[in-house]
Amino acid sequence: GELDARVEVRSGGEIGRLAQAFNAMAEHRARIDSQRRAMTNDISHELRNPIGTIRSWLEGAKDRVVQLDEGRLSALLNETLVLQHLVDDLQDLAKAEAGELRLHPEPIDLGEQLEQLAAAYPRVRVEGGGQVHADPVRLRQILTNLVTNALRYGTVVRVRAARVAEHVRIDVSDNGIGIAEADLPHVFDRFWRADRSRTRETGGTGLGLAIVQALVKAHGGSVTVDSEIGRGTRFTITLPGH
Ligand code: ADP
Repeated sequence: GELDARVEVRSGGEIGRLAQAFNAMAEHRARIDSQRRAMTNDISHELRNPIGTIRSWLEGAKDRVVQLDEGRLSALLNETLVLQHLVDDLQDLAKAEAGELRLHPEPIDLGEQLEQLAAAYPRVRVEGGGQVHADPVRLRQILTNLVTNALRYGTVVRVRAARVAEHVRIDVSDNGIGIAEADLPHVFDRFWRADRSRTRETGGTGLGLAIVQALVKAHGGSVTVDSEIGRGTRFTITLPGH
């Protein structure tokens, strides 16, 4: 394995430093390899369910064991949409994490964006505004991901924006089920879900928050989360102002 490449460091001076640098590189390499393996594993795992469903229905239909009536066809179509969504999300995430996402930032009036959000989602209350420097398509993706999550777990959702020094802070809060303190460090991990069985019905990919974090970072911003079980959750984004 990679770690066998380790060199035992006995001498000081240049050779010792060289050996240490070499060991650090070997460890970095091993870490990347294991992350890649974990990611491939996760992706296979996520693809298996929808593909299995589609396959068994099609096999059943071919063998004339089942009839693909309207309802079953819609369910199958839905599974293909889940797959499509998953592949699109994975591509966005891979690009963003590799720093290859091409952003087209422009000055955006957040107040206007939030009004549009409120018009699209009646249970969302918005307030405040500010000018941000962001890619409008990606900004909408960030806000939509956070708001749809908040609506899924809560009944009242608030989105507030305010200028803070040279940044703009946007927070999306809900009065929903909350996230356990022990789970908070994992919420931005790809494919992490508090309830693994939930995703099937909602069509979530478990990539939403990983994408939010990658997109916010690509803009030079940051995202944090606060939550309390049974009380609600608040995501706070900071983006460069304009
Ligand atoms: P998905 O919604 O597709 O499962 P996300 O990355 O968007 O994937 O979210 C990951 C998980 O974080 C969710 O499955 C859920 O358990 C938790 N989560 C996200 N947003 C909230 C929220 N507003 N309130 C409670 N839990 C949340």
